[in-house]
Amino acid sequence: MDRQQIALDVYNTARSQDNIAHLVKQSLDVIEQALQTYGPDRISLSFNGGKDCTVLLHLYTAALARHYPQTQSITAVYIPVPSPFPELEAFLSQETKAYGLDLFTCIPPSDVDIPLPVESVTPGIATPTTPTSDGAHPANGLFSRPVGKARGGEGMRRALELYKSRFPHIEAILIGTRRTDPHGATLSHRNMCDPGWPAFERINPIIDWSYSDVWTFLKKLQVPYCALYDQGYTSLGSTFNTFPNPALQCTCLAENNTNQCVHCVRIIADDPSTTCRAECAPVLPTTGENDQSLCFRYRPAYELADGNLERAGRLSGK
Ligand code: ATP
Repeated sequence: MDRQQIALDVYNTARSQDNIAHLVKQSLDVIEQALQTYGPDRISLSFNGGKDCTVLLHLYTAALARHYPQTQSITAVYIPVPSPFPELEAFLSQETKAYGLDLFTCIPPSDVDIPLPVESVTPGIATPTTPTSDGAHPANGLFSRPVGKARGGEGMRRALELYKSRFPHIEAILIGTRRTDPHGATLSHRNMCDPGWPAFERINPIIDWSYSDVWTFLKKLQVPYCALYDQGYTSLGSTFNTFPNPALQCTCLAENNTNQCVHCVRIIADDPSTTCRAECAPVLPTTGENDQSLCFRYRPAYELADGNLERAGRLSGK
């Protein structure tokens, strides 16, 4: 990965006439100010492989390449959720290598009752000796409040206490929270953690970005993102509470004698694993009426028109 090229692309976007130019510039300003305050050694990136922190990782990489070109690795922290998606952890591993992340997987040692599945421990990601998990997807209340699940907020607080004790020099954490996220409404670009939580300054460079801004950026700059988003997932939690977004479900009709999708003319009926469009993820084909096959599929996350439905695939709504 060529960091200087990333910097060039990102800073050029900030100067362009593009719709997201002002947001990119604003986010870079926030990151640069945080770097002025702390320097790269006292900042960590909160990274779980989701789309928002993927945007943030790209922006941060650009700012570091521009202002601290000697920086070799990016300090980052990952707090695993129970039953993470294998695709997400594979993406984490991929990003760790591609961006040179120094990623610490942070699991509080007192959480001994929910062991992580063996397959979820991704090679290349540092894992503490006690393989345990906290209780919830930290989502948008990260560093500020419980998320409403049993032990969720408490598990998160303990994880961050562990992080603080292991890395006391880290004073600020970059987070991909957006204002439209639950608990994001009252946040600004920089907020100290709430009382009772480990003392970090939360830096929220993309707080003003919308759902579509995120996808405009990722697609325009060809930033790699987790494969689940091409399968209809629009926000990622645990495997047991996260599903493809119903708002992205589409039905393809195939004429039985041709086996071709009437919408995009790709052959779909014979092989359920065939996608009717390059980006569509296959689900279960079923037989419809009038000698046609119905094939239910999910369109990719970037085709969700109404950003308010971003979490419609999350059971908890978070
Ligand atoms: P998505 O909503 O599509 O899952 P995301 O995970 O990037 O994308 P949120 O879930 O809204 O976004 O979380 C906001 C931010 O909080 C993330 O971008 C990341 O910076 C931080 N964060 C959330 N969960 C974790 C986690 N388990 N470990 C580390 N950081 C996290």
